[in-house]
Amino acid sequence: APLPSPRPIQALPDQLISQIAAGEVVERPSAVVKELLENALDAGATQITVRLEEGGVKRIAITDNGRGIAADQLPLALARHATSKIASLTDLENVATLGFRGEALASIAAVAAVSLTSRTADAPHAWEIVGSHHAAVAPSSGPQGTTIEVQDLYFNTPARRKFLKSEQTEYGHCAEVVRRIALARPDVSFSLSHNGRTIDQWSVCEMAKRSAHILGSDFAEARLAIDESAGPLRLHGFAGLPTASKARADGQFFYVNGRYVRDKLLVHAVRAAYQDVLHGDRFPSYVLGLDLDPALVDVNVHPSKIEVRFRDSRAVHQFVFHAVQRALSQTSATAHGSVPA
Ligand code: ADP
Ligand code: MG
Repeated sequence: APLPSPRPIQALPDQLISQIAAGEVVERPSAVVKELLENALDAGATQITVRLEEGGVKRIAITDNGRGIAADQLPLALARHATSKIASLTDLENVATLGFRGEALASIAAVAAVSLTSRTADAPHAWEIVGSHHAAVAPSSGPQGTTIEVQDLYFNTPARRKFLKSEQTEYGHCAEVVRRIALARPDVSFSLSHNGRTIDQWSVCEMAKRSAHILGSDFAEARLAIDESAGPLRLHGFAGLPTASKARADGQFFYVNGRYVRDKLLVHAVRAAYQDVLHGDRFPSYVLGLDLDPALVDVNVHPSKIEVRFRDSRAVHQFVFHAVQRALSQTSATAHGSVPA
């Protein structure tokens, strides 16, 4: 077949660039929820409300009590490659915030109707911007913090919209993202509603309590606390006893510097630690956080930042493996002693 006649090379319009980027960053409603929750946490919020309609496709509204965005910065918040979180390569290599790419809001605004309302501590009232970074900022009302509303996801990209699943499926993914993030931040209160009904509400509490709330009593009653440090590495959280293991890997939560990750190396290290106490067809349940100097981990591997790369992956693997194994071996002795055979 003849090749199509070539077109001249052209720079793409800004809107189209953002729509292309949106394909990676906002795969589905739950990805929007994740980005917005991360922004709220980066803004120091201690109280976050998530309201969803129709699985998040119709509407996602997230309100936080964080530091807010000044009126003159609101357009920049929606602009591509604009961020308050890094300003240099050195910052990127030491990034301690959940966000840093400066493209989530721009991507979301390119594929949905967005309104952003915010008030900083020193502003006499809130300000609002609707649509895109081209829009004018208008006075609004509300307390300190930020509310962002995202409506009709993919309304202008119908091909993309077709890939969305049922309302219940999309809602399920959104709820999972909220659980994941709430699990790592017991110092923040969260509430989640769907179609006007409150589904979950978690007030500020201790980690032990938050994880019991979210993962249920089976996990809460059969887990070991871990808190170990070695050099720049710290592992903390809870490892479920073999009795809390599952037939599916849906009880595994791992965080690196507070960021939920699905990392092969970490999953393998934990799995290996369970080797002696767990059947091969069972999956351990755990909520573990690895904290380390941000310079020792690269989070800029994937647009959704779900994967990370460690500078010294061998050391990380060994540390996690030994920490979990030690916890399991110590208490398997105690557990055997206290549980009647
Ligand atoms: P990034 O989080 O990578 O910086 P975003 O597009 O998610 O990029 O957000 C752009 C900027 O808008 C952020 O750097 C931050 O300054 C501001 N921002 C976004 N959401 C909030 C929020 N909930 N509270 C305060 N500032 C926010
Ligand atoms: Mg962000």
